[in-house]
Amino acid sequence: MVCDNISVGDNGHLYFAGQDTIDLAKEYGTPLYLMDEDKIREKCRIYTEAFKAELPEGSRPLYASKACSFKQIYRIMSEMGMGIDVVSPGEIYTAREAGFDLSNAYFHGNNKTDEDVAFAMDCGVGYFVADNMAEIDAIEAEAGRREIVQKVLLRITPGIDPHTYDAVATGKVDSKFGSAIETGQADEITGYTLSMKHIELIGFHCHVGSQVFGEDVFERAARVMLEFVRDVKVKYGFITEQLNLGGGYGVIYVASDPGLDIAAKVKSVGAAIKAACEEMELIPPVILMEPGRSIVADSGMTLYTAGNVKKIPSYKNYVSIDGGMTDNPRYALYGSKYTCCIANRMDEECDMLATIAGRCCESGDMIQRDVPVPSSTCKGDIVAVCTTGAYNYSMASNYNRITRPPVVMLREGSSYVAVQRESFEDLCRNDI
Ligand SMILES: *Cc1c(COP(=O)(O)O)cnc(C)c1O
Repeated sequence: MVCDNISVGDNGHLYFAGQDTIDLAKEYGTPLYLMDEDKIREKCRIYTEAFKAELPEGSRPLYASKACSFKQIYRIMSEMGMGIDVVSPGEIYTAREAGFDLSNAYFHGNNKTDEDVAFAMDCGVGYFVADNMAEIDAIEAEAGRREIVQKVLLRITPGIDPHTYDAVATGKVDSKFGSAIETGQADEITGYTLSMKHIELIGFHCHVGSQVFGEDVFERAARVMLEFVRDVKVKYGFITEQLNLGGGYGVIYVASDPGLDIAAKVKSVGAAIKAACEEMELIPPVILMEPGRSIVADSGMTLYTAGNVKKIPSYKNYVSIDGGMTDNPRYALYGSKYTCCIANRMDEECDMLATIAGRCCESGDMIQRDVPVPSSTCKGDIVAVCTTGAYNYSMASNYNRITRPPVVMLREGSSYVAVQRESFEDLCRNDI
């Protein structure tokens, strides 16, 4: 199985976080997002302990909210001592409603509106990660109006190609994000920011991509960023307090994915930073990283009920489910791989290939093509899709006026609802 929280019981049922998925499907209905809270906490612990052991004092991991954002997630992050990365006023609002201390939040985005900037300051967001000159002007103006000094990091593109899917590669020079070192724009925005009265420049940020497994991507990014830190120290006398290396560590979606030892990775990045700082005669800055996927992805599983099973002899087979691209658009968007199974037939041989098809009026609405399933698969079976904790609930939509599934948390053998199932009333809430 793709994660150690998945197993098969003596009854032939799929178990997740030690609980029978068939029972959970009965209790809460389908489609259903499950989140293994113990696993989320375990991942946070791996990051926080590795950061303490391997990185300069004060270094800390920030959870990248966009992977999965709802109130309970922020409460868990707060309890686990994680900072957060937020990318919109909606994420800021949700974290604030959950009681998260926003002085520990880093506000991202390549096009924060003036209203976003003001709202984030209203909420006391600790750090802005500024993307461009126009944003520096907006932050300076708003901070000036309030007579405060806002802490800012600058988003820099280090020119690292992480060899991942194009839509999730963000650190290359031609990216829509940040200012490139190569073009001189990173240097320029640093000088500009340092001239601002109501901005305190704290350091620099980069994010090279997502679902990254590459041997030394973060080590290379750290080195390029530290060279930049050295250059701005020489040129402007600016001492970088914080260096934020972004998120991106990959997870196992299918058995052929390589997987990563996060603690070992953090250790290796720590060693690279130490060596580079010694060589460049730099005081090591506080290191931040922003894992999203690697915190929550394998804490998630989605359960569906199978409807029609369509067999087109010598062509193709389909298993239709009661969800699809509205709760998981990643196959439609990126062709993402997933491990899928028939949760009530785990003791049967998978002797047929079937495409797991969603219920939307779109032929591209699929979860996965040609999945091995038992040929006895029929209406009423429970289809489980593994590793759906990241970029599923947070990317869900109401296309076709389909209501979003609830999120049920699994904790120490019991379960509770963290996000309720959407109702038809919810769908029409804003309709006049
Ligand atoms: C998406 C994103 C992350 C999280 O990436 P993961 O691949 O989920 O770890 C972190 N930081 C920034 C700026 C991002 O855009």
